[in-house]
Amino acid sequence: MSVSSPNGQAIRVQGLGKTFVKGGVTLNVLDNLDLELAAGEQVAVLGKSGSGKSTFLHILGTLDKPTTGQVWFGEKDVFGRSKRELDRLRNEEIGFVFQFHHLLPDHTALRNTALPMLIAGCSMGEAQNRASELLERVGLGDRLHHRPGELSGGEQQRVAIARALVRRPTLLLADEPTGNLDPSMGGDVFELLTSVCNEWKSTLVVVTHDHQLAARFSRRLVLHGGRFSEELSS
Ligand code: ADP
Ligand code: MG
Repeated sequence: MSVSSPNGQAIRVQGLGKTFVKGGVTLNVLDNLDLELAAGEQVAVLGKSGSGKSTFLHILGTLDKPTTGQVWFGEKDVFGRSKRELDRLRNEEIGFVFQFHHLLPDHTALRNTALPMLIAGCSMGEAQNRASELLERVGLGDRLHHRPGELSGGEQQRVAIARALVRRPTLLLADEPTGNLDPSMGGDVFELLTSVCNEWKSTLVVVTHDHQLAARFSRRLVLHGGRFSEELSS
């Protein structure tokens, strides 16, 4: 599949804080966190359950707002923008893969994958062409008309990846994308994410609790006490 590389941008996170207040209890989940990611960099995020990994990923993906601090995509101060600009940024530049695929059960793999393009106003023909190209790329060229219930867990996750990639995001965020899969399928999913991002020079941030999968990344960040530390190669 021939695709042009999107223009990735460096990402800078400065003094990021996220506080949740529940039942009178204040929880500082992210605490003055700093991070720089080069355009096209691939990193794994590790950390105990409850350490704030999903919270961080949601903020990076503009699905949630920080309590304090800034996120910069290149020269753009992400949360200093209007809601409309933020929606545009999220829809055009960011792809998400979650632990559970969230595919629409009544739609085929092709339709599920094409949906983000249809929502963006692309023609049916263009959306379907791109979706089938992507499904081919993730090894599901012969499953275009299957519904999620007719696919294996690993195949469903690959459809979710195709859907996340269909608009060629410059930033791909994956939150425990293999948490629900057996180890060999998990390896395949990681291989797919890293190879597509390599090809497109998209930035990739993958949250995982699987240290073996994380070891495939040259840069690993551990979230602890609301901040990142770099895990050094042994
Ligand atoms: P992880 O993904 O590392 O397991 P999360 O980012 O999901 O952790 O959650 C971090 C902490 O923040 C948890 O202790 C969780 O209970 C709390 N938390 C997450 N979302 C909310 C919310 N919307 N309201 C209150 N507390 C939350
Ligand atoms: Mg989580």
